[in-house]
Amino acid sequence: MDFSRRHFLRRAGVAAAAAVFLPRFAGYDRALAQATSVPAQKPWNTQSFSIGAIRATSFRDGTFVSPVRPIWTNAPEGEAEAVLQAAGFPDNNVTLSFNVLLLEIGSEKILLDGGYGPLAGSAAGGLAGALRAYGIAPEQVTGVVLSHAHGDHYGGLVDLVTGKPSYPNAHHFVTKTEYAFWTGGADLSKSALPADQKRTTAEQSLKALRALDGKWEKVDANQKLVDGLELIPAPGHTPGHSGFLISSGKEQVLHMVDAAHNHILMFARPEWTMAYDTDPAQAVATRRRLFDRAAADKLRVMSYHLPFPGTGRIVAEGKGYKWLGEVFPA
Ligand SMILES: [Zn+2]
Repeated sequence: MDFSRRHFLRRAGVAAAAAVFLPRFAGYDRALAQATSVPAQKPWNTQSFSIGAIRATSFRDGTFVSPVRPIWTNAPEGEAEAVLQAAGFPDNNVTLSFNVLLLEIGSEKILLDGGYGPLAGSAAGGLAGALRAYGIAPEQVTGVVLSHAHGDHYGGLVDLVTGKPSYPNAHHFVTKTEYAFWTGGADLSKSALPADQKRTTAEQSLKALRALDGKWEKVDANQKLVDGLELIPAPGHTPGHSGFLISSGKEQVLHMVDAAHNHILMFARPEWTMAYDTDPAQAVATRRRLFDRAAADKLRVMSYHLPFPGTGRIVAEGKGYKWLGEVFPA
């Protein structure tokens, strides 16, 4: 099975192909209806910073504004709402950013995930333009690492019309576990998604991985990819979900990717999960492990969905934690 040219042309191009990919799920439909269109090529959607000798740049591929239910929490009715309202979000909406990190390590130009691409309509897909505005052509990207096979991470990695990879010269990395899960029948029995949504997710993740067959280099969960970049096992959101440890000299950044989707809820109550977790209990254990490590070691943290650019620190607070987003000088 692959993204054949005929398959997508029959569906009359990207817009129709995107419709095929978009989750048919009430919460998501509402999220898309409310999604804000982000001009990701604007300079305020690109933020560079140093990690020792590594130049890191976070690009905002897009943003969702979405009602908290039914996707983003399993909290008892009223409890998540109370936490959001206490934090100054009285409309019970949550905002998700899609933060793609570029690492320039020596001559390597490595993207950690590929953004949502065209799959979210006008809500995302800003990475390609932002990368060009930054001065990097797709052909210059030397590495792409897929943290896990969900649409908001793989959607920008392949052209849905032509089936061609967006970064033709890049090494493409995915964990053996993640690839095996989606190509081996994807058991989503523990996920809180409705049945039709499980089916769609499994089908589309399989297609996306198959589309890049021949490109993938399947790696271990704790693999070191190059000096300064190693994978950190972070299972639960998906079985092969990977975080990253980025290090140079005395500086380190722990990229926890999708170990938390909201900077209020999952910090105040780490046991609250979201519907896309393939193993919610394991996702909670991973979240606590990463939060504890970040707090104890006072690590700088990067995240895929927390407010752009996604960097900050984690401190213990009460029975939970608190996210302290990093503020950059103008
Ligand atoms: Zn995600």
